[in-house]
Amino acid sequence: MSATTDPAGTPAAPVVTRFAPSPTGFLHLGGARTALFNLLYARHHGGKFLLRIEDTDRARSTQPAIEAILSGMRWLGLDWDGDEVYQSTRADRHAAVAHAMVEAGAAYRCYMTAAEIDAMRAEAQAKKQPLRIRSPWRDKTNDDPAASYVVRLKAPTEGATTIDDRVQGSVTVQNAELDDLVLLRSDGTPTYMLAVVVDDHDMGVTHIIRGDDHLNNAFRQLPIIRAMDAIEGNWPDPVYAHIPLIHGSDGAKLSKRHGAVGIEAYRDELGILPEALDNYLLRLGWGHGDAEIISRAQAIEWFDLAHVGKSPSRFDLKKLENLNGHYIRAADDARLADLVAATLGLDAGDPRRALIARAMPALKPRAANVNDLADGAGFLLAARPLSIADDAAPLLAGDARGTLTRVHAALDALDEWDTETLEEAVRQVAEALGLKLGQVAQPLRVALTGRRTSPGIFDVLVLLGRDESLARIADQTAAQGKDQDR
Ligand code: GLU
Repeated sequence: MSATTDPAGTPAAPVVTRFAPSPTGFLHLGGARTALFNLLYARHHGGKFLLRIEDTDRARSTQPAIEAILSGMRWLGLDWDGDEVYQSTRADRHAAVAHAMVEAGAAYRCYMTAAEIDAMRAEAQAKKQPLRIRSPWRDKTNDDPAASYVVRLKAPTEGATTIDDRVQGSVTVQNAELDDLVLLRSDGTPTYMLAVVVDDHDMGVTHIIRGDDHLNNAFRQLPIIRAMDAIEGNWPDPVYAHIPLIHGSDGAKLSKRHGAVGIEAYRDELGILPEALDNYLLRLGWGHGDAEIISRAQAIEWFDLAHVGKSPSRFDLKKLENLNGHYIRAADDARLADLVAATLGLDAGDPRRALIARAMPALKPRAANVNDLADGAGFLLAARPLSIADDAAPLLAGDARGTLTRVHAALDALDEWDTETLEEAVRQVAEALGLKLGQVAQPLRVALTGRRTSPGIFDVLVLLGRDESLARIADQTAAQGKDQDR
């Protein structure tokens, strides 16, 4: 049966895509991108995006890993339709399909012993050939009802199988290269290869978009699909799109040694916003002209498989941080303040949250991530007397403290405390002392923040307020008095 697309590539049937992670670790960048592409493709075509947890490997699938995947997807706004399907709950159905295939002669009970398979493997090794199991039981039955068996696919032996992959193009494999893979193990449990096919069919999946490490599997899965189509009908070939994997900056497949691969590290440790990571992952392997900043709505409108690149893309943390800086500047201040408050460990009712929110417009321009925002907000919460950063201390040397005494007096005399009034007052002090504005602003910045860099100094004065600002300046002029007493 032909794939469910017309020649123009427009799906004829309602599109159903799925993301099918194996919960043996966390949600990693590659998985998140696969899920995103599936979601965008489905939404673009007004179809459905489903989630299946492939937890058949009970020993390796853990509940924390499942939760990490679900929460990672929710964080990234990769909202799936309906309830997630747990593959492990469907073992009876998988077995039923295998038995139907045996009934119809598309699969068979294989009674080969482990020793016989070992011998076949040794022979293949001796001939330097890959092991391709062709069982003597393909065309005969065993009358012993107690004998242990596995169910194998009766794979086609002649001809070739071609997949018109929407990313890889047309790929052909000679059927002689495919072996009679196991569908049911001797304990009656389904293999992964069978479970995937049956679940995709039963979930009505029309388009399989996944990493190209699964392309070989497609050639082993299609014969199962086609056998079932011959038996039952209505098992159409899915459309396949195997997307290249993400590589690290050195061109090797992305792995832990390139840094964080789990998306929660981007959220919890690197302070990345979900919309920035989505946008970055979208651009990693897919493009629309020169567009870099692409909203979810725009991505849904534009996304197609034709513009998914064929070669692996390289992960670049700097680019991600640049995009993140953009999204930070665009983000709502109260939302960012909540993220900063969480980073700094402030309680929900802490009044300093409001102060952080007010500071956000001044903190945003220089931040590439939430940690930068939290770091920049640090001076607001610092206790007096401020500890002065080592590289900032020299800026309080020499005449600086005398300058601060003059600034203190000028500011103390002000009736208003807004940026214009403050700027005017500080300018006047600079003029009176024959200094440039910067020569006054620098020690003032250090006195107020303890740092060489901060948001604009007049914003800092307004955010700290009159009393706190004057007290911090006085702390430094008093420190000068102490120095002189010595
Ligand atoms: N469970 C497989 C994985 O996590 C994906 C299977 C598929 O997409 O067909 O790699």
